[in-house]
Amino acid sequence: MARLVMKFGGTSVANIERIRNVAQHVKREVEAGNEVAVVVSAMSGKTNELVAWCADASKLYDKREYDAVVASGEQVTSGLLAIALQEIGIGARSWQGWQIPILTSDAHGSARIESIDGSGLAEGFARKEVAVIAGFQGIHEASGRLTTLGRGGSDTSAVAIAAAIKADRCDIYTDVDGVYTTDPRIVPKARRLDRVAFEEMLEMASLGAKVLQVRSVEVAMVHKVKTFVRSSFDDPANPMPGTLICDEEDIVEQQVVTGIAFSRDEAQLTLRRVSDKPGVAAAIFVPLAEANINVDMIIQVVSDDAKTTDITFTVPQADFERARALLEAKRDELGFASLQGANDVVKISAIGIGMRSHAGVAARAFKALAEKGINIRAITTSEIKFSVLIDAEYTELAVRTLHTLYGLDKA
Ligand code: ASP
Ligand code: MG
Repeated sequence: MARLVMKFGGTSVANIERIRNVAQHVKREVEAGNEVAVVVSAMSGKTNELVAWCADASKLYDKREYDAVVASGEQVTSGLLAIALQEIGIGARSWQGWQIPILTSDAHGSARIESIDGSGLAEGFARKEVAVIAGFQGIHEASGRLTTLGRGGSDTSAVAIAAAIKADRCDIYTDVDGVYTTDPRIVPKARRLDRVAFEEMLEMASLGAKVLQVRSVEVAMVHKVKTFVRSSFDDPANPMPGTLICDEEDIVEQQVVTGIAFSRDEAQLTLRRVSDKPGVAAAIFVPLAEANINVDMIIQVVSDDAKTTDITFTVPQADFERARALLEAKRDELGFASLQGANDVVKISAIGIGMRSHAGVAARAFKALAEKGINIRAITTSEIKFSVLIDAEYTELAVRTLHTLYGLDKA
């Protein structure tokens, strides 16, 4: 007997028929003798609708009420799945975040899980009940208010619950059958990975791969939760294993590059001829940080006159105008000659723990991109990844070029 967490995303619970299909997947695991906690998302599209209603009701809505509204999607699916399970003879009970409880910070709209009491769930297992848990939501203890964990947060609910109840495995069921070397919609030759290391998955998720919420991978890595990404569209009687996210020691065939990720949510800002003296970088980036604007790539050019320099950096697209306005307002203090911006840029990244032990991995990419006439606007590297910022019109060409270059194309 094992203890499992099974998580089902929005497309997997999109309607009653899909929920019945989920019930069959759960039934298989229960009949194999396992104790099962299921975590569900809202029906696909539901959370977007709820978010839009809040914005429609008020431009500056109260975040606590936003959480009260958007948490409702998962309440519906948890109850419906419990009914669907009971209907096929499987004991089941729904749980809202506050009933467990899943205690979180009070950062409404993007709360962090602080602790989970798994004892109530364990008592349910002893009664032979499947626990059907509403993902994405928790409660802030002191205020007693509902919270939500940020978009895509039910992945994090699932992994955190798996850690709390010491589950043997956390299966994240979605509409794809695993983690791919890159987005198969852009590169038809993308391959499904059998295994991917926690650190690689963390980079892939942070750099634009949408299959898991970044925070869920952090939680899985810290608590060493054996996590699979797999498809709910497989035949419930004969499912495929999916992709295992695991320690790097558990990966036998090590590739230099494991995957190519891309993010379209990038904007570039360049300050021309900023004075080149101590404290200027701080004068630019501290106010941006204080405005909660997340700066990613930063390039400072070595000045040739020793008096001025150019600084280029990137921010999420949603913060582009705010960052621009903030810097314009400080024009006198910073003393730059001009401020330039570009919104039609994309960040392409190659990720692989093999980069630690191989030299020249990024250099090969620069050459391959140059041969396709693709100009690189900015570059960043770290131990297991490098990223280039390029014009958005070359996204597909660049991703395909790198995918082929590193031998990731399927045969
Ligand atoms: N329903 C929430 C969302 O759409 C949480 C999730 O699905 O993970 O963001
Ligand atoms: Mg998701």
